[in-house]
Amino acid sequence: MTDPQELQAFRQEVAGWLEQNCPPSQRQPVVQSEQIWGGRKRQFPSEDARTWFEACRDRGFTAPDWPAAYGGAGLTAEQHKVLTGEMRRLGCRPPLYDQGLWMLGPALLVYGSEEQKREHLTAICRGEVRWAQGYSEPGAGSDLASLKTRADDDGDAFIVNGTKIWTTKADQADWIFCLVRTDDDAPKQQGISFLLIDMESEGVSTSPIPLISGESEFCQTFFDNVRVPKENLVGELNGGWSVAKELLKHERKMMAMVGDMGEKPAMSLVELARHCVGTKDDGVLNNPAMRDRMAQHLMREQAVASLAERIYHQGKAGQVDPRLPLLMKYLGTREIQANDELILELLGAEGLTMDDPSIVDDSRKRVKQWAFNKALTIAGGTSEIQLNIIAKRALGMPSVGGNS
Ligand SMILES: Cc1cc2nc3c(=O)[nH]c(=O)nc-3n(C[C@H](O)[C@H](O)[C@H](O)COP(=O)(O)OP(=O)(O)OC[C@H]3O[C@@H](n4cnc5c(N)ncnc54)[C@H](O)[C@@H]3O)c2cc1C
Repeated sequence: MTDPQELQAFRQEVAGWLEQNCPPSQRQPVVQSEQIWGGRKRQFPSEDARTWFEACRDRGFTAPDWPAAYGGAGLTAEQHKVLTGEMRRLGCRPPLYDQGLWMLGPALLVYGSEEQKREHLTAICRGEVRWAQGYSEPGAGSDLASLKTRADDDGDAFIVNGTKIWTTKADQADWIFCLVRTDDDAPKQQGISFLLIDMESEGVSTSPIPLISGESEFCQTFFDNVRVPKENLVGELNGGWSVAKELLKHERKMMAMVGDMGEKPAMSLVELARHCVGTKDDGVLNNPAMRDRMAQHLMREQAVASLAERIYHQGKAGQVDPRLPLLMKYLGTREIQANDELILELLGAEGLTMDDPSIVDDSRKRVKQWAFNKALTIAGGTSEIQLNIIAKRALGMPSVGGNS
């Protein structure tokens, strides 16, 4: 627990630092094309974006609660909360986006060797490397442990063969973390290992998967006799399932909070409702049914935010009730979609298209967001699988299979 006076001093110091280092243009709601993704091919949309990223990187604020020895700022839970609050107050953009930051890093902090932490965590914090995730396969999504990509022992290296599917932005990634089969005879979860693979290794290739919208962020990634040094094994040989589950906890948490990371529309839900259905003299919405549904949704949204905070603080104190994180992905993504549905209903006829140029930009963005957010109850484990896991692990009901 940080002393309240020290915390107050930290708040003042950090507010001053943000004021000095975050250019005004980086205090505007971020649009997708201006997000800063790390990696060898990193590009900055503007000089201000570079200045903001570099200031955060040098202060450890790209990963504020990671240890300073690995490129973070080593903040305590309370300090991290103060920083997040001050950044939100000023409207500062996230300085860096990367799957390494959200998913791999937290798992490496638990399972990585000292060398792996020093090499990979530092590169992630510094935005030098962009990561992709190689879990799913054509025959192994919900039933992830059925995966067939194999890594065979070849002295000081593994030889990897197989394919991963739905690998988001793998064509732009520098490295990919993968689940691979290292023992065919063991029960399926016990024959899996967790490997870090450089995308520039010979034998790695990607092929984009076109989507119905015409846009695609998915690839299929192929491994053809790829040589991977043994020091890239994370955790124990055949112990990859534990690393995978640790990482999935962070992926699911990230999915539940993804609404906070996207583009922000000009009007909040309440403002949009006032604008679309109008208000009475006392400011109450004209449509009582809509008002009720919005109130219920906003209360559930607040409950999810409080749950996330509770889990975070329990985590920092090393006392997480293991049932609570299981609820986060299911509840968080459900509310994001409930929010989108309310918005679409409020937009009425304007919500019928994403492409009509006569429709104001903000509405088109919201319709696109509605369509994109449908994916959130699939990515990182489907809602049905989350409910299976909650039933089994939180409620002690019998297992019905799946990635649990
Ligand atoms: C936006 C997005 C990004 C993604 N990015 C990545 C990535 O970067 N890397 C990666 O490895 N993967 C990624 N994925 C893949 C994702 O993890 C899988 O889509 C997900 O795990 C589901 O697997 P599947 O698509 O094979 O569906 P399936 O497993 O075939 O499921 C089909 C349907 O059957 C239901 N179902 C299956 N089993 C059960 C059961 N036991 N009980 C009840 N219902 C069941 C499911 O809920 C679903 O509705 C991404 C997916 C999306 C949507």
